[in-house]
Amino acid sequence: MNYKSTRGNAASRASAQAIIDGLAEDGGLFVPESIPAVTLDFIRGLQPLSYEERAKAVLSLFLTDYTAEEIEGCVERAYNNGRFDAAKRAPVAACGATSVLELWHGPTSAFKDMALQLLPQLMSTALKKTGTKDEVLILVATSGDTGKAALEGFRDVPQIKIMVFYPEGGVSRIQRLQMLTQEGTNVNVTAVRGNFDDAQSGVKQIFGDRPFNDELQEAGIRLSSANSINWGRLVPQIVYYFSTYADLLAAGRIEAGEEIDFTVPTGNFGDILAGFYAKCMGLPVHKLVCASNTNNVLTDFLRTGVYDRNRDFYKTISPSMDILISSNLERLLYHMTNDTQKVAGWMQQLRETGRYEIDADLLAKIQQVFWADWTSDEDTKACIGEVFAKEHYVADPHTAVAWRVAEHYQKETGDAHHMVVVSTASPYKFNGSVLEALGEKTGGLDEFALLDRLAAVSGTKIPEGLASLRNKEIRHDGTCTPEGMEQSVLRFAEKKNS
Ligand SMILES: *Cc1c(COP(=O)(O)O)cnc(C)c1O
Repeated sequence: MNYKSTRGNAASRASAQAIIDGLAEDGGLFVPESIPAVTLDFIRGLQPLSYEERAKAVLSLFLTDYTAEEIEGCVERAYNNGRFDAAKRAPVAACGATSVLELWHGPTSAFKDMALQLLPQLMSTALKKTGTKDEVLILVATSGDTGKAALEGFRDVPQIKIMVFYPEGGVSRIQRLQMLTQEGTNVNVTAVRGNFDDAQSGVKQIFGDRPFNDELQEAGIRLSSANSINWGRLVPQIVYYFSTYADLLAAGRIEAGEEIDFTVPTGNFGDILAGFYAKCMGLPVHKLVCASNTNNVLTDFLRTGVYDRNRDFYKTISPSMDILISSNLERLLYHMTNDTQKVAGWMQQLRETGRYEIDADLLAKIQQVFWADWTSDEDTKACIGEVFAKEHYVADPHTAVAWRVAEHYQKETGDAHHMVVVSTASPYKFNGSVLEALGEKTGGLDEFALLDRLAAVSGTKIPEGLASLRNKEIRHDGTCTPEGMEQSVLRFAEKKNS
């Protein structure tokens, strides 16, 4: 199976090459030329399997240029590596009539691990398969979470190095510690004397600096990114929709063939789009509910057909969803229209005016699958309190956004399909907001005291990756100015792995 660009002006290619390239030359995203179909027997057959085996079964339908052994190797190194603290990797918790899919049992306690543990393995194998001799240097600008998850995923992966830039005063103490203690022989973490925008513009500028890229290319190094538009980051996420269904079947919570709903806390539209692929493949999914915070550009789009990023940007207590451009929506528009020219036109309008509008027929088609709503910070906190009081379950703010929107959906539509709320972060990652929502005082407590307090209040265990930060040694102390980032990249690129 080959992959083509959503904008129609790039040659199609096998998945390994699409994963190495990341973005198509015409600026579009890679999509599969056809979506594989599965039967109910295939889904039933997943029940006795481990997460790794389920991943192998699903991924091999998409990555047809990888051998079975290659996929198995990638999957084993990604998930069966002692870094997940749940035997099921992505376990499903029962909370009354609702199920909660927990995607935060990986090394950094956030859902990004599900994709960023596997992407580096797929990329490293792709380099080998395609006979690419260059070394890949991954550059990441981070406001906190993605940087750490990318570092954990790429550490010690052959033929790849990773360098993460973060704004010096712009991340929490825990997030800084998570990055500065990062182990691995191929990693670098550098503080930029500026804010997140400085770091991000710096990285973008480096990607766009042709002479600089040519200079690196001559030294056998090519730059790449780990962001969520890479097909190798999206395809791992399809697996857990199937895995959830298999677990619900095995637990007798649903019957074979019964349609279920998912509510997904959404930012870049990657997570929920993976659910759309699963549905297209034949997984019995009724509705995909798209949950946003106050940055509700997707709610408006899915309700009116108008995508308009010209609006205020809010900093919320669910920061991983503070996004105004949801890049993966482009893939949905392609699959819903099969019209690369239309997609290219909308994306051009988005670039030039910050706005585009789809026609009523297409909107109706999208609304057959998707429903959307949003919730405020205040209501998110109220939801965390209610869920804890009712179910004794501690939800992080992103999960609570989804929970609340799932309630809106069921109330407004009367839909009674089994509901799965997708949970994207451990509550320990956002301990301050969670404790406040539970009525606790947080003033004067440092990050470690907050972790301890949440453990005491909830009766749950602090994830190892966070608990162990207390005693880890600091390994990275580099800093640079925004103008000095290129120089830092060059220094690290030329350094042999230690
Ligand atoms: C990245 C992230 C999201 C949003 O996922 P998308 O795939 O970008 O829609 C939601 N919650 C958390 C905790 C995240 O880290």
